[in-house]
Amino acid sequence: MFRKILIANRGEIAVRIIRTARRLGIATVAVYSDADSRAMHVAMADEAVHVGAAPAAESYLAGERIIAAARKCGAEAIHPGYGFLSENPEFAEAVEAAGLVFIGPPAAAIRAMGLKDAAKRLMEKAGVPVVPGYHGEAQELVVLARKAREIGYPVLVKARAGGGGKGMRRVDRPEALSDALATARREAKAAFGDGRVLVEKLIETPRHIEVQVFGDRHGNVVHLFERDCSAQRRHQKVIEEAPAPGMTSAMRAAMTEAAVTAARAIGYQGAGTVEFIADVSDGLRPDRFWFMEMNTRLQVEHPVTEMVTGLDLVEWQLRVAAGEALPLAQERIALSGHAVEARIYAEDAARGFLPATGTLHRLRFPDGAAKAHLRVDAGVREGDAVSPHYDPMIAKLIVHAQDRADALDALAAALAQTEIAGTTVNTAFLARLARDEGFLAGDVDTGLIERRQEALTATPAPDTRTIAQAALAACGATWKPQAPDPFDAISAYGHFRPPVHPRTIHLGERALPHTVTGLGDGRFAVCLDAADGEKTVTLTPGENVRLAVWPGHVTVFEGADSHTFRLHDPLGLAEEEAAGGDSLRAPMPGLVKLVRAAANKRVKKGEPLLVLEAMKMEHTITAPHDGVIAEIAAEGAQVSDGAVLVRFS
Ligand code: ADP
Ligand code: ADP
Ligand code: MG
Repeated sequence: MFRKILIANRGEIAVRIIRTARRLGIATVAVYSDADSRAMHVAMADEAVHVGAAPAAESYLAGERIIAAARKCGAEAIHPGYGFLSENPEFAEAVEAAGLVFIGPPAAAIRAMGLKDAAKRLMEKAGVPVVPGYHGEAQELVVLARKAREIGYPVLVKARAGGGGKGMRRVDRPEALSDALATARREAKAAFGDGRVLVEKLIETPRHIEVQVFGDRHGNVVHLFERDCSAQRRHQKVIEEAPAPGMTSAMRAAMTEAAVTAARAIGYQGAGTVEFIADVSDGLRPDRFWFMEMNTRLQVEHPVTEMVTGLDLVEWQLRVAAGEALPLAQERIALSGHAVEARIYAEDAARGFLPATGTLHRLRFPDGAAKAHLRVDAGVREGDAVSPHYDPMIAKLIVHAQDRADALDALAAALAQTEIAGTTVNTAFLARLARDEGFLAGDVDTGLIERRQEALTATPAPDTRTIAQAALAACGATWKPQAPDPFDAISAYGHFRPPVHPRTIHLGERALPHTVTGLGDGRFAVCLDAADGEKTVTLTPGENVRLAVWPGHVTVFEGADSHTFRLHDPLGLAEEEAAGGDSLRAPMPGLVKLVRAAANKRVKKGEPLLVLEAMKMEHTITAPHDGVIAEIAAEGAQVSDGAVLVRFS
């Protein structure tokens, strides 16, 4: 076994790999960019090497510098994690050429699966069922249009170099093909440096079921059962689970056999995932699933497989890379119970899952769960920031219980106890999904989230009591901003300064004027100036409330929902409102890629106004309501976080 390894990654996956390495007595070297000098993975590793500037291209993707760091520290092997360099065959080769071990498959296996078109051609030859489509070289519109007609609409245009759901467009009618090709190519070119696409049949009621495989240098290949990742938004996984709901033994036998065949066909070694798409319009049927792609690395959702098999996949990766045989033969790998993983992202579910950034002023997870085993894989700590440079994933909550119902129940409960403040997060959305009737019934195709979007992303308005709690905390926070506990401050306040002056806090666009009066007995009366008259709530500071006070804000947690109030009005929203206009602001720094509306134009609610490219994805900004545009950002403009993109008159 290795004595020391370098981890060419960051965040939760780097932390996850360090944990196993430590357990096995292997020393670890972290690498980091300018943005990450104080990151959790750096703090946890035995050694850390700075490799460059914040943009990934200059640090986490700088293969040569990473290899140099490994040599300098005397590491014997490099674990690439996922994303970044994990599926880069040139990097794998360079690692080996430097006399180090790449903890992953051979470069040739990565290459064979690297481009979706070539991989599909190869799998067809190996006898693995493949989604019907055009996987050839031609890229001209006339050829692709003809192929799409032959395949039959609706079709899916997919970047051949794609990943993470990027560069993919559904096309329902021939007239829409040209536009879809343009967007998919642009997105693919920006994200992967390769704008080439393939066209395949769009499966209408699909489930994403994937099989975890493992190979070693001695010719053994096994599978570790399946994972269902059908709960997706924008073709990206949201909740993953194992086993797949409703899986039959015939279906499992067919799928795992196809996965092992795929792995053998390319001489696979290490951890890999063969992704299949199943047409479930008629239930799960062994003759209705097709190879989609193979991810030649560890996967974000690997913990659900670890929980149902009781195995440590990173340990297996290390053993295989060190030349050992697979620890277990196929018949000794067993499945037990049900595991579910939820990915907590900094993103705004209600606004099309737009990624968000910010400092995690509050980040607390529950310690355990009833009737389930809870695992929290996080790559950040309280006080760390979600920066625009990298993936906005904050943590993964994984639960393992005796059955699916218990697992989902435990997951929803764990989400309700999670407290995150400082950025917008998707925990409320995840909790609603975990309690969604259709999802609970196991009736999950990849369109479920989109169909139920409104219900899953609706945030209930806070009630009077919640607003009063926020007002009371805000009062303490503004009086004594440095106080560690706002309620200590407010208690002192009540003693010395009753009654208080009128003040205002803000919730989104809503101004909430109120007064707080100390009653002299430790209680406070918060009088809210509501539209339908005044309402007074009497509160004891800190009682029956979970909240976080952070610079300029108060966040109140109610189950998995949270309400963030602003203490003052930093963006001048109130002035804007007074001026009779409203505006759309950039949720993160980005580039205005396309402008679809103009000043003085009347637009309808939901109409696309512009496309913002940020975090390597295109985000369509739509009109929040009907209105007339007064001002709109210019195409090609580089905008900062909070900059006005569109102003309505
Ligand atoms: P896929 O979506 O291709 O099935 P996964 O769900 O396993 O693959 O996600 C892998 C993606 O995770 C990468 O393509 C990358 O965008 C993202 N990623 C890479 N590194 C990290 C990290 N340290 N933390 C969170 N996400 C990451
Ligand atoms: P990526 O590399 O981005 O993960 P995939 O080819 O794995 O790309 O596809 C990502 C997701 O897109 C799938 O999980 C599935 O939900 C959806 N998808 C892919 N191919 C099809 C298809 N032919 N029909 C319907 N949905 C598809
Ligand atoms: Mg995929």
